[in-house]
Amino acid sequence: MSKTLKIAGMPNLHSHSFQRAMAGLTERQTNPSDSFWTWRELMYRFASRITPDQLHAIASQLYVEMLEAGYTSVCEFHYLHHQPDGKMYADNSAMSQAIIQAAQDTGIGLTLLPVLYMTGGFDGRALNEQQKRFGHSVEEFLALIAKLQSQENEKLKIGIAFHSLRAVPEKAMHEVLASISGKLPIHIHISEQMPEVNECVALRGVGPVQWLMDNADVNHDWTLVHATHLDDAEVALIAKSKATVAICTTTEANLGDGFFRLRDFIVAGGAFGIGSDSNTSVSPVEELRWLEYGQRLLHQQRNIAVAPEQTSVGKFLWQKSVGDGRISSQQDCSEDYLILDENAVALAGVNDAMLYDRLVFGGNRCLVKDVFVAGKLVVGDGKHAARESIATNYSKVLNQLLA
Ligand SMILES: [Zn+2]
Repeated sequence: MSKTLKIAGMPNLHSHSFQRAMAGLTERQTNPSDSFWTWRELMYRFASRITPDQLHAIASQLYVEMLEAGYTSVCEFHYLHHQPDGKMYADNSAMSQAIIQAAQDTGIGLTLLPVLYMTGGFDGRALNEQQKRFGHSVEEFLALIAKLQSQENEKLKIGIAFHSLRAVPEKAMHEVLASISGKLPIHIHISEQMPEVNECVALRGVGPVQWLMDNADVNHDWTLVHATHLDDAEVALIAKSKATVAICTTTEANLGDGFFRLRDFIVAGGAFGIGSDSNTSVSPVEELRWLEYGQRLLHQQRNIAVAPEQTSVGKFLWQKSVGDGRISSQQDCSEDYLILDENAVALAGVNDAMLYDRLVFGGNRCLVKDVFVAGKLVVGDGKHAARESIATNYSKVLNQLLA
């Protein structure tokens, strides 16, 4: 094997695994003003039916796809906690266990982020019927975290997530932050959609990022998911805080969120990585390529994501997303790596200088051959060992859910 073809595996900073099963189901216009908010109604209806066994089957399929595409760890932003009617399962961690089992069965590194979700808006309104599956009191949430922390191992890290500022009252956020001890990842959806930003400004006087920075000690343990709509001060504040932004390009495109201020953020020295989020696309190559392409379309320029010391866009994007992504996931990824396919025509004549640009911008065929997580082979010759049995189980579940 040529040394050139060994590269670091990609951390996936943001995933809602159950949404993999909805890919392609929400692409039919129901109203000329279809938006994130009409998509969310469909997502809620779908989410309301999934059992722990079904979630295990969906997450297993998704994690096989992630590994085969070159993601070696995943941060699972997990809010589907309870039974469809909102009652807790006899085991309060049943849905979390389904995710943990899927990660163990497939060999992907997992940073599980149980999500605190308490209110339906900035005004503190109660959760609606469809949101009841997501809800916890602070006490219930901390009990879940403590239980899951007792299961941590080399490839299972437990963190916490606040769904968003609109779903977590200020007092609850402070109670949770005061109760956690030790270093752990803290993730939050923020400034994804303009109605959310406008509501925050109306009720709290400033935008969500500004508010968070003013009211919490945001540091490198934090990951801000999306951070799409930022003013100049917020760009600088995030960069200075050392928090990582999880940019979810294909999902942000799918949902019509907007463009991340990538160039300004890079110039400010900000940390970022990528997430597959709704999992309509499961490919680090596509995330990175469209992160750059979106900026090219926006600015009518080329070769935007670079640094003075790294002018290869592909290499800058891959290495930056790996390096900052490891901080966000808090996984030990030192032995997570990929071997690219030496027989791929797309890599013919490749050398070190051009490798990443050819990987990211050279086409659509997956060039990942072997995948190692914690030094252990999990994908050989492009194929996960359990691919067939997991796919069979997944198909069965999809037939149930779509019946
Ligand atoms: Zn999300």
